[in-house]
Amino acid sequence: MIQFQDVSFKYKNGKYAVQDLSFSIQKNECFVLIGPSGCGKTTTIKLLNRLIQATDGVILYDDKNIKNYDQHKFRREIGYVIQQIALFPHLNVEENISIVPELKKWNKTQIKARVAELLELVKLNPLEFSKRSISELSGGQQQRVGVARALAGEPNLILMDEPFSALDPVTRIELQKDLKVLKNKINKTILLVTHDLDEAFFLGDRIGIMHEGELVQIGTKNELLNNPINQFVEQFLQNYREKNVVKEGI
Ligand code: ADP
Repeated sequence: MIQFQDVSFKYKNGKYAVQDLSFSIQKNECFVLIGPSGCGKTTTIKLLNRLIQATDGVILYDDKNIKNYDQHKFRREIGYVIQQIALFPHLNVEENISIVPELKKWNKTQIKARVAELLELVKLNPLEFSKRSISELSGGQQQRVGVARALAGEPNLILMDEPFSALDPVTRIELQKDLKVLKNKINKTILLVTHDLDEAFFLGDRIGIMHEGELVQIGTKNELLNNPINQFVEQFLQNYREKNVVKEGI
């Protein structure tokens, strides 16, 4: 569904934020990009949603260069969930979720039904939450509304940039578990960016490890753990191994 072919992005100062990225994301796959801060994860997401343009290389969406799609239509194909939640504080829950369906000119009855369905999906009771203002929600509830809003326009692709990293650990784990269940229900293609290896292994069908603007290795959790390609990947996985040895030891 998505193919990066030798994609690079260079800043004016000559610094490459990402270099020669080549990977593909299959339909209905949850692909995770992980790596230390500054390794180029956000740049990769920005390239995909056309906030910035590749200096070299091509990105294909359904076999067509993303440059050749109408910008607005293309953006509406994509749902976003980001760290800073970014709900509109002056709109209530229902209004926040309705934004894209309204842009897509669905009728009012359709939109109302969709909002109720989505709130159920993210485990918020529609009767209780539809009319709430954003300030009356906890961080976790706001992020649930964020996920509902991202799904509202029936996008085919969901981009998640550190979606849970601003949440406390208990809420984060709860939302990760719910996203995993949701992921199997909705059959969407998801690109998730995180620096949390537990999250990557828990949610990702495949994981791409980035380092200094390059994709070092792509694989499933087991492929990576069994076959780290180099010292950097081995080091990166070390934390995870240590924690899980401790867990298994209990
Ligand atoms: P990540 O999301 O993995 O933390 P980014 O994609 O945000 O990484 O950044 C990739 C690299 O690009 C970093 O090394 C960062 O310092 C560099 N970078 C970001 N913005 C600029 C800029 N305006 N000019 C030059 N380099 C930049």
